[in-house]
Amino acid sequence: MKILSGLNLEEIEQLTSSLGATKFRARQIHNWIYLKSVREIDEMTDLSIKFRNQLKEIATVSDTKIKIKQVSSDGTIKYLLEYPDGECVETVLMRFDNRANLTACVSSQVGCAVNCSFCATGKRGFIRNLTYKEIIEQVLMIQRDTGLKVTNIVFMGQGEPLLNLDNVLKAMKIFNEDFQIGARRLTISTSGIIPQINKLAQLDMQSTLALSLHAPNHEIRAKLMQIENKYPMDNLHKALKNYTDKTGRRITVEYLLIKDLNDTAQSAKELAAYLKDIKCNINLIPYNPTEKNDYERPSNNSIMKFKYLMEHSGKKVTVRLERGADIDAACGQLRGKVNRTESKE
Ligand code: SAH
Ligand code: SF4
Repeated sequence: MKILSGLNLEEIEQLTSSLGATKFRARQIHNWIYLKSVREIDEMTDLSIKFRNQLKEIATVSDTKIKIKQVSSDGTIKYLLEYPDGECVETVLMRFDNRANLTACVSSQVGCAVNCSFCATGKRGFIRNLTYKEIIEQVLMIQRDTGLKVTNIVFMGQGEPLLNLDNVLKAMKIFNEDFQIGARRLTISTSGIIPQINKLAQLDMQSTLALSLHAPNHEIRAKLMQIENKYPMDNLHKALKNYTDKTGRRITVEYLLIKDLNDTAQSAKELAAYLKDIKCNINLIPYNPTEKNDYERPSNNSIMKFKYLMEHSGKKVTVRLERGADIDAACGQLRGKVNRTESKE
């Protein structure tokens, strides 16, 4: 059985020509898959019933299932999706009600080898890479389930996208060309895999790079992220500078705020010095407590103080709005609770 999701126009043309149909049929099917997001071939109502039946003999729309769906009171929807081999990943749809934007947060791997100390995904280790089709299936699933068109995509779900770069780049090409989502509305978030950041710099893409920095110096970062020992902040600084120089694009620096660990005035000062010559915006992420460690979220007062200090250094600073806090919408939290199926509304 051929799975239609993930095929590009040429591949669909090969399929339709094997059934003796024209290229126009392929274009129709392509629209049904990517723009109208149907679940079944029978919903492709501008194809004749005879042709639909022929197509159903050799193809199906999708082979992925929604295992858990949780809807938050703020409109955030979190899915745990199951691929045919039984592996699951998380995908989140965030709506920002003051704008028409619908942002899908997609996973790039099952599990993650980077194993940051604060992250629920890292705890189970690395299972496998997702194929590009499995990556785009996450967005198609959201569109099919909600009937809405996703406008922005961030690679901030499970996994380290730069350790599955070929599949991530293929998926991004399809998001751009087949879903018609502008490259600037696609964001890759990385824990800082230096050789791959250098590779991205060469590609001259219009997409946004987000860096999970999370610390103002080597000591604190090494405590939070083992990857700091492999790709230390000094070298990372060179790679980021090279990236912004080559692409002309501003990067987003993500900074997890953890009480008394990296939220002090001294930390803000060191962070400002580190980022001084890097063209970037800063996104502060108040730590979202997961079960197995003793990090704490700072008070709102210290979050605002840290924001103020960073703004004072001349950067644009945002604090990540807490989305879906009532449905475990932080990284890796749903997959860790596969047995919990209730939907809290
Ligand atoms: N591996 C990539 C992409 C995943 S992004 C990366 O780390 O950048 C996952 C994001 O969720 C990261 O910015 C990470 O710092 C954040 N995150 C993970 N655990 C978190 C937690 N407990 N609270 C808040 N943010 C968390
Ligand atoms: Fe992997 Fe990112 Fe989680 Fe670190 S924060 S373990 S890199 S998914």
